[in-house]
Amino acid sequence: MSTQAKKRTKQQKRERASHFALTEKQLSTCPKCKKPILPHHVCKFCGFYKGLDVLYLDLKAERKKKKTKKKEDKAKNK
Ligand SMILES: [Zn+2]
Repeated sequence: MSTQAKKRTKQQKRERASHFALTEKQLSTCPKCKKPILPHHVCKFCGFYKGLDVLYLDLKAERKKKKTKKKEDKAKNK
């Protein structure tokens, strides 16, 4: 393991750390459901982007319901 050539002073350390602060995320609102979302991102609540349904969340939820129903019916028939 190598040793450091020069000591880094408190001032140098603090000056470097002056750029470490986190910035608050700027949120925009979804035009469809009015919830806060990241700009230029698909809304994860309703699945819309630029007025288009991109994620088909409603369809997926319906399919999941059907699947669970089928499973339940199978379990009942056994
Ligand atoms: Zn939305």
